[in-house]
Amino acid sequence: MENRTELPWWERPVRMMRLDYGPDLQRMRHEDLAELAHRKKHEWHINCEWVIGTPGIAPGLGYLVTFHSKHFPHYAALEGWDLIRNYLPHAKREGLHVLAYLNMHWYAYEFAAEHPGWEQLLADGRPYGRVHPLYGSGTTFCVNSGWRDWATLLVTEVARTGVDGVFLDGPVIYPGCCYCPACRKQFQAEYGEEPPPAEDWSSPLWKNFIEFREKSMASFLAAARAALKAVNPDGVIFLNAGSWHSGSWRVARNIEKVGAHQEFNGAEMFFHPGPNAAAPIPWAITAKHLVAAGKPAVVFSHHTLGAWHYIGLPPLEAKMAAAETVACGANPWIAVFDYALDHDREAVVAPINEFFGFLEKKEPYYTATESAAEVAVLYSRQSATFYISALDDIYEDRGSGREQHLIADTGTGQRIVDWRRRKQISDSLYGNEFAGWCLALSRQHIAYDVILDSHLTSGGLGKYKVVVLPNAACLSEEQVEALRRYVREGGNLVATFETARYLAQGEPRREGALDDVLGVGKLVGAFPPVAAEEYVEVTADTATSGGAAGSAGQPFRQGQLLPRPVYSLRVEAIAGRNTPIHYLTPTGRVYTAIGQVSEFAAALHGEEGTAGATSGDPAGSRGRVVYLPHALGDSYYRYRLQEHEEWLAYTVRWANNGAFAVSTTAPPTVQVEVRQQAGRLLIHLVNHTGDTQRPYHFLYPVSDILVTVAGPPARKAYMLKSEAEVAAKASTHGTQYALPPLEHYDVLVLEE
Ligand SMILES: [Zn+2]
Repeated sequence: MENRTELPWWERPVRMMRLDYGPDLQRMRHEDLAELAHRKKHEWHINCEWVIGTPGIAPGLGYLVTFHSKHFPHYAALEGWDLIRNYLPHAKREGLHVLAYLNMHWYAYEFAAEHPGWEQLLADGRPYGRVHPLYGSGTTFCVNSGWRDWATLLVTEVARTGVDGVFLDGPVIYPGCCYCPACRKQFQAEYGEEPPPAEDWSSPLWKNFIEFREKSMASFLAAARAALKAVNPDGVIFLNAGSWHSGSWRVARNIEKVGAHQEFNGAEMFFHPGPNAAAPIPWAITAKHLVAAGKPAVVFSHHTLGAWHYIGLPPLEAKMAAAETVACGANPWIAVFDYALDHDREAVVAPINEFFGFLEKKEPYYTATESAAEVAVLYSRQSATFYISALDDIYEDRGSGREQHLIADTGTGQRIVDWRRRKQISDSLYGNEFAGWCLALSRQHIAYDVILDSHLTSGGLGKYKVVVLPNAACLSEEQVEALRRYVREGGNLVATFETARYLAQGEPRREGALDDVLGVGKLVGAFPPVAAEEYVEVTADTATSGGAAGSAGQPFRQGQLLPRPVYSLRVEAIAGRNTPIHYLTPTGRVYTAIGQVSEFAAALHGEEGTAGATSGDPAGSRGRVVYLPHALGDSYYRYRLQEHEEWLAYTVRWANNGAFAVSTTAPPTVQVEVRQQAGRLLIHLVNHTGDTQRPYHFLYPVSDILVTVAGPPARKAYMLKSEAEVAAKASTHGTQYALPPLEHYDVLVLEE
């Protein structure tokens, strides 16, 4: 910790950039390269850049190189000029680390024709890139084919230029691939059978195929890394590790598999304008997911107006992407298109100059930090990949509940039987459930980390006061045992919907593996998935039914109605559970009288501490457990109902059984992240208070934010930007800090 300068450069704060020339790479040749590198350092304030090694441009020119190599043809427009070797000395002089960008997924048909057997094939034998031309024209190759040797030789050759490493843009194992002869042979050798011809979630062979694809990616990366290290032992390599978004199993990206073979985990979180614009805090969730894998992380956020690449992002959005990223302990990355600088240089540079400049100046505060969050939210890659609910009832088409022109969409009532459709429903249910918890905790200022399946061990959970399992359906025996031990040793657990009802590869269990811990006697069935007019009722005063003393976690009054989550289960609770909220009997229609309070609880609260036990008594140190027999996060993410947000937060606060170390009066539009480093607590605040829609154009500073931190006053408290001291006074839960008005972003620094 103390010897920070001895950290390798990639474990220190990194600010990455790719200045992109598109098809006009020769423009770089005519630049003053010394001036170019100088600007990157002093105008953009980056310390790491990507230069093009093989271009990602139409019609798939990834087989041409920008540097001298006797093995690969040169990109013609450069007329033999070695872009990398000419530029490298200038970049090094400015202290910039240079990574070569290698396009590894897009190849022209002519090039493919010269290399039979390299293309990825669909199950029917047609090349993927002929059925789905990439970016309009071009094809893609298989990591298990002869192309692998070509690709690793490319890595060797580019390493010889002296670059600090490579970024591989691809390969991608495309949906429905790969059935090339090499894959068939290798799969047969490993699993003793031909690969399964179609998506079939009832077949173990299909699940093996899913794993085979992910392993193929990881082994390709390992081979590429070995090639790099043979030339440059300190070289870094990485590719897109994949995101948490639902359905990412289709492209065989698994952060826990590729992460072992790369120095950074990176993933895209591009801003795309339009009706499907990303949900709030997309960079934060992406950053937390990447950081969870325990190595340096990079969030790729285009500095472009979506697909209008030659215009920069609106300034506030560019800064917001970077602020959300660094607040969660990840590194920012931008792509800037050179033409944008021809047309609007000042506007494009300004937000990056300001924010990256700030990060450069304050680098020690971003070095060797770790999260101080007390809550963990599991992103179960196993569940995201293999979960397909076995509950027939949830596949009834009940429509969106939306009313328009005096017509209510209540669906067809038909049951969906198609595998693919069922898998899509399960995938989006899983993804929404995870993101809904993240969003609600963020807005309610409960600091949380994302954790991965590999953290479900005895050592991986102990640092958290509350572990949340958002529909962690697919868990192994060992993972279940680790969760049991965590609760036994005093950890508090929150679980939802079908948690632990399936094995790690998705086979349904006969009963939920955590039912006894969660307080479930029996699963009776599922309610039809209706998004209208169904309710739960608060049947006990939440303040007296075990509401945590000192927490602000009692939002509901007895008799209050809350919207019923769409995906809801009927379960029998075992004796001794608090059940403060109950389902009403379903009505099945809208504008009708509501149902009666049913026997089925919608929240099962367990106080595991034995009666009369003292805190020093091991028997009394068992944790609190809440089971929500529904996908509350999914409903919140889709419908954004205030009652659901409060219910999610209340659940975690109740489970915590006390106050969290950091609390704040900031509005929900301020993202608060708590990090620490030797001798310091760092409370990041990202302000999103302003425009109520994209484009985010203006921002209101937030005044009068109070932050309360457990314990005595800090030796020194100040804001990172202004270095102004912050006033502190004692409060019931520790020390209260009164912050100056918050503009876009700042950090409250508390020195021990
Ligand atoms: Zn193949």
